[in-house]
Amino acid sequence: MHKVSIIGAAGTVGSSVGYQLATQSLVDEIVYVDIPSKNSLTIGQAEDTNHALSYTSHTNVYSGDYSDTENSDIIIVTAGKPRQPGQTRVDLTSVNQKILDSIFSDISQYNDDFISIITTNPVDLLNRHVCDFKNRPREHVIGFGGVLDSSRFRYTLSKRMGVPSNHIKATILGEHGDSQVPIFSHVSLLNGPAPTFSSDEKSSILSDLKESAMCVIKQKGATQWGPASGVCHLVKSIVENNHSIFPCSAVLNGEYGISDVSLGVPVRLGSDGIEEIVEWDLTSEETEALTQSAIKLASEYQLLN
Ligand code: NAD
Repeated sequence: MHKVSIIGAAGTVGSSVGYQLATQSLVDEIVYVDIPSKNSLTIGQAEDTNHALSYTSHTNVYSGDYSDTENSDIIIVTAGKPRQPGQTRVDLTSVNQKILDSIFSDISQYNDDFISIITTNPVDLLNRHVCDFKNRPREHVIGFGGVLDSSRFRYTLSKRMGVPSNHIKATILGEHGDSQVPIFSHVSLLNGPAPTFSSDEKSSILSDLKESAMCVIKQKGATQWGPASGVCHLVKSIVENNHSIFPCSAVLNGEYGISDVSLGVPVRLGSDGIEEIVEWDLTSEETEALTQSAIKLASEYQLLN
């Protein structure tokens, strides 16, 4: 029996996660929660999702308040302000910190043993904040971003190399933001030798990646399918206890030489959340970039109250 709650479920990412998760028939219950003024929209999202399920999925979707989230196994928090064109993720810090503080107070009235997956930006800073101040074990506190960044990396490489993106393994570590670190040394292809990249190619790919989310925001107002699909991969690993490795924001305790920062690293996921932070061999250039990403995040964390 698996119960998932989505906080922010009336919004773009929350409703899309709910729909994709429900259609996969992975969990038994999904509870949609949003603010009271979005009550009607939240009810509508839940009903519309249910209408997509009857032929393929056993999942029961319903909307409610925090009392309905009681005993959730996983709570996905997508609530908060999204970026507008011209804004950075860090610009959202103050407003979204307040939103998450109030949400975690409400959640904790009805739940004490659950795994949180946060998408709310700036996700690395807020994930650490939740771990530090909401008394949560780091194994149960997962920030989402690396799977999406890595998916964008794979897509960018697939266009350049002329191979399907699902034939490429490529991972982004570090911040879900401008100091992201593409791990070129671990790029591999399903068919063929590992590709190599010149410095110019690496810079050009990184520059494309930094623009990729904002391109979507400018064109359609928000990113939607990418984050929703990525969150579902994490939920699947947890409920199936399949020990898959995904890049997630996790609070580090000496791994990669970094402490007291949440940032994207490979984590092994199972039924109890983060089972292991996997330490890959990186090049000195990648290690330095990851260290710089951690320094940037540590400094920005001082902005939080
Ligand atoms: P959205 O505005 O469409 O939805 C946000 C929802 O949160 C709204 O329905 C709103 O009513 C709700 N909300 C606000 N305050 C709340 C509260 N106190 N309690 C409950 N619900 C509340 O935004 P979106 O496009 O779905 O994005 C949501 C967040 O996810 C943003 O911060 C965005 O930057 C972030 N995001 C992160 C990633 C990632 O990879 N980490 C990807 C996309 C979006």
